[in-house]
Amino acid sequence: MPKITIAIDGFSSTGKSTVAKQLASNLGYVYVDSGAMYRAVTLYALNKGLIEEDDFNKEALIYQLEQIHLSFVFNEELGYAEIQLNRQNVEKEIRTLRVSSFVSQVAAVPEVRKKLVAIQKKLGEHKGVVMDGRDIGTVVFPNAELKLFMTASAEKRAERRYKELKERGDDITFEAVLKNVTERDHIDTTRKDSPLIKAKDAIEIDNSNLSLEEQYQKILQLAKMTIEGLE
Ligand code: C5P
Repeated sequence: MPKITIAIDGFSSTGKSTVAKQLASNLGYVYVDSGAMYRAVTLYALNKGLIEEDDFNKEALIYQLEQIHLSFVFNEELGYAEIQLNRQNVEKEIRTLRVSSFVSQVAAVPEVRKKLVAIQKKLGEHKGVVMDGRDIGTVVFPNAELKLFMTASAEKRAERRYKELKERGDDITFEAVLKNVTERDHIDTTRKDSPLIKAKDAIEIDNSNLSLEEQYQKILQLAKMTIEGLE
């Protein structure tokens, strides 16, 4: 069976990673969470004091980029790879609202994007990959055989993210999560370098009223049809 590249882009908290993981596991593909990479760089900047209050020392981060080593290590139990920042598993730390509050500013820095896009392209060079993010179908894999663009209303997305964070025990309010989701949408869609836009050949999926299972079945069908079309 030919292997394809599946690019999943869309707004924050649209459930991209959930469906990407399911898809990768069903097809025996590698799943890559590109957002985790931007989050890990943000965590590095926060830990090094390069971001304080609203002051982000971009130049210092650019200068230190070479010291940031990112890798993915497969977790047998979970069935997908987890991100490591300088050999430390940071999956939990990168999902906090603190990291979410600054990640879009860090992701808007062209030097950061250049470094991460190069790693992403390498991870997908042999196909058989499902990658989710904001610029996967437009910049990272413009020739991906299947491109999806996921959307849902900001309220629905904030509701989902709020539930997730609460379940993890985070002390947050719905309003703070909604504010973060809309702020990130704004920065991600208006930045100069690789803004979040739907690739011309992407299939748009609005999942405001789809259950996780309905969405998964729909996307799995699309992937199978794409693969069969190449046989
Ligand atoms: O996917 P996730 O919400 O974890 O991504 C966090 C942030 O990283 C996004 O809001 C966006 O600013 C940035 N990002 C990006 N390009 C990607 C993936 C994520 O700019 N390919």
